[in-house]
Amino acid sequence: MQGFNKYYPPDYDPSQGSLNKLRGKHALGDRARKLDQGILITRFELPFNIWCETCNNHIGMGVRYNAEKKKIGAYYSTPIYSFRCKCHLCDGWFEIHTDPKNTRYVVVSGARQKDEDWNPEENGGYAIHDTEKEGAPVDPLAALEKTSEAKNHMENVQRPRIESLQDFSDRYNADPYSLSLKTRKRFREEKKIEQQKKRSDDLVKDRYGLPASLQLLEEDSASKSEAKAEWQKAQQDHLRESKRTKTVLRSTPIASSMPSRTSSRNSTKPEPSSIGSLRARILQNTAKRSATAHKS
Ligand SMILES: [Zn+2]
Repeated sequence: MQGFNKYYPPDYDPSQGSLNKLRGKHALGDRARKLDQGILITRFELPFNIWCETCNNHIGMGVRYNAEKKKIGAYYSTPIYSFRCKCHLCDGWFEIHTDPKNTRYVVVSGARQKDEDWNPEENGGYAIHDTEKEGAPVDPLAALEKTSEAKNHMENVQRPRIESLQDFSDRYNADPYSLSLKTRKRFREEKKIEQQKKRSDDLVKDRYGLPASLQLLEEDSASKSEAKAEWQKAQQDHLRESKRTKTVLRSTPIASSMPSRTSSRNSTKPEPSSIGSLRARILQNTAKRSATAHKS
């Protein structure tokens, strides 16, 4: 029995190891009794229905056995395990291996496996057919045509293209120094022009108090003429507008517009006499109310 309980005998010395060591037992107990042969006893559940070949009895999927588990090989880095079980109805043994390549279990000896692979056609589905047939095509002429077509394409289209690309690349990689010199010279000239333009733009922006982020148009003949046309149009509009306002002011007499305003003001503002009568009425009302209050 392994040391499940916590009874530590008086002669127990912790420096000599665990309780299991003192008793001379493995931590896995009886399950490790064949560990020296590389066998560990584990609980194994049948993954499918089988028939025992010794007693010919049917054993259902899910029945569990204390199986002897052993590593028997490897598929790449995945170990292949063998499970050896003793039939519970007779004294026969059967052996089941894992099959990492096909991710399944296979019965190796001592039993027959019931074939229970899923068949879609049997269950109202469709079988999968391989449309890309392996091996040589049926029509040899068609195959020949196909290969010759591919060959022609390769000779007439792909090879010239690759060769021209190669030429191009060779030409450009032949003298990198002079190429770099040329490009840098061109960049420098462009930069000079850019800086000149920026300076003149900044001058304009400073003069008219424009925001620094404003993008000014390129100064060419088209934009110049457009700007000129805009300016002339705006000027004409301004002249027309100022003329119109002058004529309006002259045609409307000041007197004709006044009476309506004064009359409206009269209606809202009470005259001094009406104010006097209102004051008298208020005084009368308060006198009446005080009188009735005194009576009651
Ligand atoms: Zn059996």
